[in-house]
Amino acid sequence: MSKLPEIAISIFSIMSKMALDYDAINLSQGFPNFPSDPKLISLVNKAMIEGNNQYAPMAGAISLRETIAHKVKKLYNKAYNPSNEITITAGATQAIFTAIAATISKGDEVIIFTPAYDCYAPTIELFGGIVRYIQLQSPTYQPDWDKVRDKISRNTKMIIVNSPHNPSGMLFSENDMLQLQQISEEKNLFVISDEVYEHIIFDGNNHQSAAKFEALSKRTFIIASFGKTFHNTGWKLGYCLAPQNLMKEFQKVHQYNVFCVNHPMQLALSEYLKTPSHYLDLPGFYQQKRDYFIAKLKLSRFKIIPSQGTYFQLLDYSNISEESDIIFAENLTKEYGVATIPTSVFNANKEDFKQIRVCFAKTEVTLNEAAAILNRI
Ligand code: PMP
Ligand code: GLN
Repeated sequence: MSKLPEIAISIFSIMSKMALDYDAINLSQGFPNFPSDPKLISLVNKAMIEGNNQYAPMAGAISLRETIAHKVKKLYNKAYNPSNEITITAGATQAIFTAIAATISKGDEVIIFTPAYDCYAPTIELFGGIVRYIQLQSPTYQPDWDKVRDKISRNTKMIIVNSPHNPSGMLFSENDMLQLQQISEEKNLFVISDEVYEHIIFDGNNHQSAAKFEALSKRTFIIASFGKTFHNTGWKLGYCLAPQNLMKEFQKVHQYNVFCVNHPMQLALSEYLKTPSHYLDLPGFYQQKRDYFIAKLKLSRFKIIPSQGTYFQLLDYSNISEESDIIFAENLTKEYGVATIPTSVFNANKEDFKQIRVCFAKTEVTLNEAAAILNRI
């Protein structure tokens, strides 16, 4: 008996293992290969030495919730009450899981755009929900809101959006958010807005957080992750913002799922977050990496699909091979020594656009070595 008969091992585990087995440069699973700021690490040490080694409050350390509320108010002009509208979670994954668990029951339909981050659909199905997919089309990956309207039935309960978008790097515009707001109000839908890459956004664009849209924010769980922002994906810390009525339901699940998460790291993050440059400098930092890597690939046979955010870049290999992206990515790892992610795994019906995803959250040495290999293909 399986509750998720169709679900296999995640592509991230598969490709990172293959990278290890074949001693390949790992541009597959999204994580930085450079250190987190030593200042942040010493703040964790300080919090531990000062004796903060027992449970945090269920919703998270109040100092961190207050700092987050301050940051969100400043960036998006929306006040979340730290005492009952913010919960600190074990990464974005747990926040997404908890938001779905708190809202989705048997037969509820949830709309998701594909390619989609891989945890949404299995979590919906685990709670008896039915996923309704809308395929975003390469190379722009822009949402078509008429298709969303067409997919809505009387059973539709929720829509999940993700901007900046993994894997394409596409951004929602202000107009996209207004459309989302209108549809979700009209059809009385909950929204999960996965904003884990909110601070990794390029070319002078602004992040359109659901927090900026008053009516939308009233029905939305906003999901964030410190791992992406502070180069420490292994800490698995993130948070959820939601209005009080939704947060109340969220916390009913959270308190029996994990109760609370790593206390000393929360205290360290709360101190570190008080310096806005620690996140406001991120667009420049990652844009430089994106541009460095793209420049190195200029003479390669890969086509670069523009990435406006996240630390991912799609590469179209249709000039190189007709193989499926899964076979192509496998061969690239085994024969050439660069591990990437085939993007069809994130698509509705596993549609294959002949594109692989690379993570450029890497040192220049690594990006240089990887580009030298990709240029030979
Ligand atoms: N959502 C998206 C779009 C992601 O890319 C990721 C991780 N890469 C997550 C959620 C999960 O984040 P976390 O590692 O904080 O659980
Ligand atoms: N979110 C990361 C990515 O897209 C991977 C996280 C994971 O391994 N589950 O690569």
